[in-house]
Amino acid sequence: MRQPLVAGNWKMNGSTDSITALVDGIKAGIDAVTTAEMVVCPPYVYIPQVAAMLQGSAVSYGAQDVSDQESGAFTGEVAPGMLADIGCKYAIVGHSERRSLYGENDAFTARKFAAARKAGLVPVLCVGELLEEREEGITEQVVARQLDAVISLEGIAALGAAVIAYEPVWAIGTGKTASPEQAQEVHAFIRGKLAGFDRAVADKVRILYGGSMNAGNAAQLLSMPDIDGGLIGGASLKPADFLAIGVAANA
Ligand code: PEP
Repeated sequence: MRQPLVAGNWKMNGSTDSITALVDGIKAGIDAVTTAEMVVCPPYVYIPQVAAMLQGSAVSYGAQDVSDQESGAFTGEVAPGMLADIGCKYAIVGHSERRSLYGENDAFTARKFAAARKAGLVPVLCVGELLEEREEGITEQVVARQLDAVISLEGIAALGAAVIAYEPVWAIGTGKTASPEQAQEVHAFIRGKLAGFDRAVADKVRILYGGSMNAGNAAQLLSMPDIDGGLIGGASLKPADFLAIGVAANA
């Protein structure tokens, strides 16, 4: 049985005050979430604040990105070991905004995945197709290529210790959600592909859906057999909505 995971990607939003209110709101309602593991991914600079506020709580925290390098002359980068040092459990890699806005390709994403693992972080590997790729009928090819980059660098076993987030790019921040059936189809494809390498890894890995998941559509998406949680952008900035998604994952 895979424990559902609901992770909030706050992106480049927040201030000391707004993040205090957000975390206080999450903590105040967290007891209603009985089954899912809840995770927040603040902007780097606010991670220590969030870590201090979450001490003793069941909510974990992670980073939205990570360097592929361990240390040294890499101006502006944040090393995976630094994130582990301040208590991060997770690091998102290959988010579509990193891929499309900052030119991060499959090979670079795979190196970030490897670096995160080496430092003891759990990578949350984002995969997903553009609208034109879906329309061309190559969704599975795109997702397979993104997964293969990691499998060929790190081996299949590495995915058993990671999280995958299927995020159709056309659904991110657009208010257009994949239907539960559309999402399930790709999730099943991902699990089936992994099973072709190693059935135990495929059964174990949590595959999250991301793309305009919200309090209203979460229950249906999360009821699909291969959807093990959500990676949430916009709705994770509102405590009530984020918590409602967590509650929707209650057993
Ligand atoms: C995301 O950024 O990973 C995401 C899923 O965003 P949103 O929920 O806003 O579509």
